[in-house]
Amino acid sequence: MRLNSDKYFLLTAILVFCLLMLGQISIADVYADNQAKGAETTKRNNMNDPFVRPEKVNYLVLPETWPIFYNRGPLDRSPKDKSSKLLTMGTGVPSANPYRYGPAMALIVNDYPYFIDCGEGWFRALNRSAITQKGVDLTKVFALNNLKYLFLTHLHEDHTVGLPSFILSNYKYGATTNKVIFGPPGTEDLVNCIVHGWQVDRQAGVQGPTHANPAGSSAAVGEIDPHIEFPGPIFEDNNVKVEAFRTLHAHGALRYTYAYRFTTKPDGRVIAFGGDGHYTKGLVEAAKNADVLVMEGCTWKNLKYAPWGGKTLQEKQKVIGSLHMFPKDMKRVQEDSGVKTIVMVHEQNYSPPENYKRLGLLHEMQEAGVKNIYSAIDGDLY
Ligand SMILES: [Zn+2]
Ligand SMILES: [Zn+2]
Repeated sequence: MRLNSDKYFLLTAILVFCLLMLGQISIADVYADNQAKGAETTKRNNMNDPFVRPEKVNYLVLPETWPIFYNRGPLDRSPKDKSSKLLTMGTGVPSANPYRYGPAMALIVNDYPYFIDCGEGWFRALNRSAITQKGVDLTKVFALNNLKYLFLTHLHEDHTVGLPSFILSNYKYGATTNKVIFGPPGTEDLVNCIVHGWQVDRQAGVQGPTHANPAGSSAAVGEIDPHIEFPGPIFEDNNVKVEAFRTLHAHGALRYTYAYRFTTKPDGRVIAFGGDGHYTKGLVEAAKNADVLVMEGCTWKNLKYAPWGGKTLQEKQKVIGSLHMFPKDMKRVQEDSGVKTIVMVHEQNYSPPENYKRLGLLHEMQEAGVKNIYSAIDGDLY
């Protein structure tokens, strides 16, 4: 079909207008925009309205924690022809950010959840996702006795501090299924400490007037042996097959860190969870031709504003670079693995408030050549 030039011009104009509008709606990219767009959100939610910025920016009130920068709600970006869904329940870093819970993901297969990492606010993150994400009936998915399987990528505090909640917050409501937790060496000690540490509370629940059933308040641990089980399948049921791969992230006693590759049985999706870390062969293997890699990301361009990692930029490059994923490394992971989509979580997106861009790290990744990458927030579906 041939279009005459008037029609062509009109169509182009409409297209450009739509793109501009989309940009307006989805990307508030300069401070003034963020203040304007964010102010609508803060006003609607009665959060610090009109916005008064903290007098001094320190570790507690970094720009990423300001309500004006949270101007979108959870989205359903999952493929419509697939029943398995990835839910990014908690997308935060160790910072005290009330808008991003600690690292916590759920892969939902046949309406059954498999949890990956367990950061701060895990139980509340279930609620926020259930209340804000309509793409899946999460009240059904998170039925009490479905809260069972958890896979820990590593034992850093920000990925595990929700464990007491995972083990103990739900039996009081009637959950009777004991938990099953997979993780690196040290997981068993950690879980035993929690179970013993909360013994007093459990006894009070059981002996007191609530007559709580202690079944469902404990956990079995599958510690993954880093010397003999790699790479290899570590778990399988009717819904998923899970393989673990060694990655490189932390040091010393925390040097055993894993990526998990889930293959969903009903619809054949492959979703890899990289945890934290930089480029490694294990990570590339875990994400080999996968549909999705859930991965952390860290700025290179604005690293000098990182509130940790040393005093000089060089120190930060060395220290933070030995632990985390810069854009150029994310590109290598994508190229070498052939993974189709990257869902970025655990963003270290630093800058002074005046230059803060909610999507700044996403754009940095794209500028470095990373394709099909999303910046996730709590409650998104992929
Ligand atoms: Zn970590
Ligand atoms: Zn972390």
